[in-house]
Amino acid sequence: MIELHNVSKKYEQFTAIDHVTISIQSGEIFGLIGPSGAGKSTLLRLINLLEIPDSGTVNVDGQILTQLSQTALYKARKSIGMIFQHFNLLANKTVYDNINISLKLANYPKEQRRERVEECLRFVALENMRDSYPRQLSGGQKQRVAIARALANKPRILLCDEPTSSLDPTTTAEILAVLQSINNTLGVTIVIVSHEMNVIKSICERVCVLADGQVYETVGIVPKGVKS
Ligand code: ADP
Ligand code: ADP
Repeated sequence: MIELHNVSKKYEQFTAIDHVTISIQSGEIFGLIGPSGAGKSTLLRLINLLEIPDSGTVNVDGQILTQLSQTALYKARKSIGMIFQHFNLLANKTVYDNINISLKLANYPKEQRRERVEECLRFVALENMRDSYPRQLSGGQKQRVAIARALANKPRILLCDEPTSSLDPTTTAEILAVLQSINNTLGVTIVIVSHEMNVIKSICERVCVLADGQVYETVGIVPKGVKS
């Protein structure tokens, strides 16, 4: 469970997040929607403390992240994966190495890394691209590599920042189907930031509407599902 309590974040004088309290259940697919500049990306980055709140608490699976030491925070972050609009792959590394690096950084046992990378490649159906470089991949393939990298350390939570905003509708459906199966088969809690209502409606069970750094409302929806 992810609980943000009374969280605020300012950039200089500008209040990006203003006393936000939200609670996301384990196993849920939760959407964050709102206009550009509403604070969606900031709120997502407050969950894994990529942004440090000025006040309030962030509690993930019973751990109050805002009270942890830097070392303990690095450890806690292993259970939170993240993907981005522009994929953020390392351009001069192969698909294999892009995934392997996240295992190395997390001190995943060396003798188990190869099998784990292969497992992740199979999960996103990219085994045959392991030696390719990001520039040789389509947008959808790049996002699948990013997903494999995010899953490598077996996170319980996956944070997705506009994961389909660079993709065409067909590829968007394909990526949403992958996210849905990660939730279904691995039980990973998924939080998706998007400005696209159709994306949110297709897979989210609840959506929080943000405006000017505040929660406007949180509503339950029945996801339509995706077919890729
Ligand atoms: P959204 O994801 O809803 O578009 P963001 O969370 O990216 O919104 O940004 C919320 C507001 O905070 C915006 O007005 C943005 O310009 C500002 N902001 C975001 N990051 C920074 C930063 N690092 N420094 C200064 N202002 C920022
Ligand atoms: P190290 O952790 O020292 O890099 P690894 O055994 O994880 O050792 O991998 C060594 C290198 O071999 C990797 O950086 C990667 O480039 C390559 N490699 C390992 N396994 C594979 C594989 N199945 N397919 C392609 N390249 C691989």
